[in-house]
Amino acid sequence: MKGSLMSNTANSPHNVIIIGSGPAGLTAAIYAARANLAPLVFEGEPSSSSDQPGGQLMLTTDVENYPGFPEGVMGPDLMMKFREQAARFNTTFITEKVTKVDFSKRPFTVWVRDTQYSAQTIIVSTGAQSIMLGLESETRLIGHGLSTCATCDGFFFRGQEIVVVGGGDSALEEATFLTKFASKVTLVHRRDSLRASKIMQDRARSNPKIEFKWNSKVTELLGTDKLNGVGIVDTVTGERSQLNVTGLFIAIGHRPNTDLFKGVLEMEDTGYLKTRPGSSYTNVPGVFACGDVQDHTYRQAITAAGSGCIAAIDCERWLESQH
Ligand code: NAP
Repeated sequence: MKGSLMSNTANSPHNVIIIGSGPAGLTAAIYAARANLAPLVFEGEPSSSSDQPGGQLMLTTDVENYPGFPEGVMGPDLMMKFREQAARFNTTFITEKVTKVDFSKRPFTVWVRDTQYSAQTIIVSTGAQSIMLGLESETRLIGHGLSTCATCDGFFFRGQEIVVVGGGDSALEEATFLTKFASKVTLVHRRDSLRASKIMQDRARSNPKIEFKWNSKVTELLGTDKLNGVGIVDTVTGERSQLNVTGLFIAIGHRPNTDLFKGVLEMEDTGYLKTRPGSSYTNVPGVFACGDVQDHTYRQAITAAGSGCIAAIDCERWLESQH
């Protein structure tokens, strides 16, 4: 459904608007809907790499640590189930990205371009997005050999040699997954020790298709229309080298999607929203935050879902306290 509530909204504010549709936003929707709050969810833009409906799990492969799925589940399938569950209980979805907010007075207002919606409460669950290396050529080559999503693009690299950048769980998870397709995966990491959990490390280290290139940074992407290699510099010796690969996956972490809330909600220097400890309360009464947008520590689907539940309960109790 696209932007059809304008006139209705102008007259009667929604109980709650949820901005974002990852595990946090959709869990908040399930709880808010079952509390008869008839939530309105802005789920993001399908064409966006940072605000896609379903959030980051749409870009992941097997999720083996989400309780209830002993055999594991694919990220997109899991998010589809979340959405179906929220839809079952009177949740309205708008497949758009919120472009502006005004939380200075109640009811709060959010805009999708020129269309305005209002609500008594807001739950912010806009998540986080992939960090890039910052090379000029990234923009040119994304989708042409350069990717941040192994699930989406791994298939295209069948029988090819590729590089994965990073030393955390994401990088090792992507590298391991990509060996299903690639003939060889070189993991390029800027230090000589990994940040990833031991189980991920063990899995990657024992995979014969994965080679580690330590103390190394990707400084150059080669190729005009299509990636055909990467330039590497050794961070210890300064020596430069080249890897003739046709694929590069960047997996170096994430940034919270909080541009919309600058000057509106209190945030950390890193851009993560501040919430009152043990709750989802932001500095604006009636505005709550949950999921990766306010969690730089755990950042798991299950913790995001848990915080979405907290936000919906906080929101429901806050609304009750106002009457
Ligand atoms: P992360 O833990 O922050 O790791 C980022 C990695 O990228 C680090 O190794 C970092 O190097 C490197 N890096 C950062 N900026 C770089 C740059 N400009 N150039 C080169 N390398 C750079 O991020 P993540 O791997 O995305 O994981 C985020 C969170 O999600 C973690 O808590 C992780 O445990 C969790 N996670 C869990 C799973 C799972 O359990 N299935 C899967 C994925 C992620 P340094 O080490 O030198 O800082």
